[in-house]
Amino acid sequence: MEFELWWLLALPITFGLGWLASRLDLRQWRRESELKRDAPLSYFRGLNFLLSEQQDKAIDAFIEAVTADPNTVDLHFALGNLFRRRGEYERAVRVHQNLLARGDLPSAERQRAQIALAQDFFKAGLLDRAESVYTALATSPYQSEALAALLQIHERTKEWPRAIDIAGQLERLGAGSYGRQIAHYWCEVAMQCQQSHDLTGALDALDKAVRVHPQAVRPWQLRAGIAQQQGDAAQALEHLRHIAQIQPDFTALAALDMARLFRETGQAQAGRDWLLAKLQDYPAIDLLDAVLQLEADASERYHLALTYLQTHKSLLAARRVLDQTSTALSPEPARLALAQALDGALKNRQRYRCAACGFEARNYTWHCPACQGWETYPPRRTEELQLLAV
Ligand SMILES: [Zn+2]
Repeated sequence: MEFELWWLLALPITFGLGWLASRLDLRQWRRESELKRDAPLSYFRGLNFLLSEQQDKAIDAFIEAVTADPNTVDLHFALGNLFRRRGEYERAVRVHQNLLARGDLPSAERQRAQIALAQDFFKAGLLDRAESVYTALATSPYQSEALAALLQIHERTKEWPRAIDIAGQLERLGAGSYGRQIAHYWCEVAMQCQQSHDLTGALDALDKAVRVHPQAVRPWQLRAGIAQQQGDAAQALEHLRHIAQIQPDFTALAALDMARLFRETGQAQAGRDWLLAKLQDYPAIDLLDAVLQLEADASERYHLALTYLQTHKSLLAARRVLDQTSTALSPEPARLALAQALDGALKNRQRYRCAACGFEARNYTWHCPACQGWETYPPRRTEELQLLAV
């Protein structure tokens, strides 16, 4: 083995590198231990308070910690989030704006502070400010979060064309399927057009709703409304019949309008038979009511209501039987007392209930005012829902 000259050089270089590494480690270690020493005790106290859900004390401790070391970015975030969660939006905004004012903030932390600030504005109801911050973040790593928030803002401000645009972007990003929601936005556009007497615009928006979600019920309901407005009862009826084809369960929602339209178009008998067939397949009190409205014969009406009660033992059905009971069958005072008792028991049980959050509404609604969900209400009244659940 030959001795090579460079071995002589390698030895000191290796030694030098080792020494440098140990120095670096040492410096790192020193910095960390200084941090630990400096990380104000108040920070750990704050964490402890947070864990034991004593937010007031946690905030005091965090403020102390931030004052002692204004460079700790994470502490600012913790403090800002705490303020927001407690509804102290102004203070949360100040904390996040302070962070953003720093020139040395790395870009990732800057975007994190921006999204936090947008959340503060949103929660505080300052939607225009939230919108501009979220819009600035729409091409950042927070893109889907920003777009989802923008969608909520446009829903609240009823800017439906912009909501449609954002929902489309979210769908293209793979954030889920937005077809059903977009169809509702088009329905909202149609209603706005209808209010400003632009029926062509309304019909155009409804075409788009059906195209984006062919199973949507609401466009057909709205088309029927426009046809009625134009005096075309037969066409309106056709639109409502279509609901039975695409989502038969929702026929109940259209049943009373259909009964009226069947009568208007001189088809009371055929309409009664059609609705009765639907009642048998998709029982619902509104369908029974529609059938009863078209049935001319009093004893037949009583029989229909009784049959329904026998198969669906609900208070709603009992109330209908009582309505159809002639005074000959039961003495008037007894009938009246029974009716009052039933009405009392039925109070608050004829509503519709959101399947997502449980919020109840007197009239059927496509958009839950509590949880903002779309089409979260089953087309059945609460009492009937309870029976279905048993
Ligand atoms: Zn809800």
